[in-house]
Amino acid sequence: MTTVSAALREAASALEGASDTARLDAELLMAEALGMSRSEMLLTGRDRGVPPEFARLLDRRKQHEPVAYILGRQEFYGREFLVNPQVLIPRGDSETLVDAALRNSPPAARILDLGTGSGALLLTLLAELPKASGTGIDASLGAVSVAAANAARLGVADRAHILHADWNAEGWSENLDRFDLIIANPPYVETGAELAPSVRQFEPASALFAGADGLDDYRSLIPQLSNMLTPNGIILLEIGYAQADQVSQIAGLSGYSAELFRDLAHRPRALLLR
Ligand code: GLN
Repeated sequence: MTTVSAALREAASALEGASDTARLDAELLMAEALGMSRSEMLLTGRDRGVPPEFARLLDRRKQHEPVAYILGRQEFYGREFLVNPQVLIPRGDSETLVDAALRNSPPAARILDLGTGSGALLLTLLAELPKASGTGIDASLGAVSVAAANAARLGVADRAHILHADWNAEGWSENLDRFDLIIANPPYVETGAELAPSVRQFEPASALFAGADGLDDYRSLIPQLSNMLTPNGIILLEIGYAQADQVSQIAGLSGYSAELFRDLAHRPRALLLR
C-alpha cells in the first residue's frame, strides 16, 4: 500500500514542472481526496492509504489547472470564496486594495465594485465593515452567480447587490446611486503578454486582457466615474506593477490625484484617486 506520506513526496516532484508550489499543491489535493483539512491530514493522515480520487486531481494539476479551480474554492483575506473558471482566482496581491479601502472609507460606506468576479473585494469589505453596503457588477453572468453565492455564504447578501452590467455598454450606470468608494480590479494585462499556462489556459480572458498596452479599461472607466461618487468619494484601482505612471496620468486627465499603494513584495499594486 502506498501511504499518503510517500504519495505526497512523489506527487510533489511530479508537479515541479507545473507549479512553483508543488508540495503545497500536492498536500491540498490529497487533503481534498481524503475529505480532510490540510492540517488534519498532516497530523493524522500520513500513514493512511491513498484514495483513488487523488490520481485524478493530481492529473488535472499536472495539466496546469489551478488548484483553486480543482477545489472550487480560494482563500482571500481570511475567508473562503467559491471560484470556477468563470471568475479570476482572487490573488493575495489584491488584499492590498482591501487594506487601503479599510483605511480610507467611512464605516457605513456605500461601495461599488466594478468587475466583481467572485466578489472577493466587495464581499470582504462588507464582511469587515458591518455597516457598509454595496453593489458589485460584472459583465459575465457566470461571475454574477458566483458572486451571489459567495455573498450568501459569507452572510452579507442583505447588504450586497450583485448585478449583470458592462461598463463598456451605453447607459450601464443609469440606475446606480452614488458611492463613497468605487473599487475595481479591472483587466490590465497587455493582449500579447506571455502568461503562465495555468493563467492563460484556465482563467477568463475577459478578466485579464485590456488591449495592446493593458490600459483600455482604465481609459474607458475613469472618465465615467466622477458623477457616480459622493462629494468625498474615492476610487481605488488595482494596477499592474509597471502601470502606476500611466494610470496616474489617465486619472489626471479627469482631474484626480493619485496615491500609490504597494503589495507585500513592495511592488506598485493600487492607486487611490481623489
Ligand atoms: N494579477 C493578474 C495576473 O497577472 C492580472 C489581474 C488583472 O488583469 N486584473 O495574473
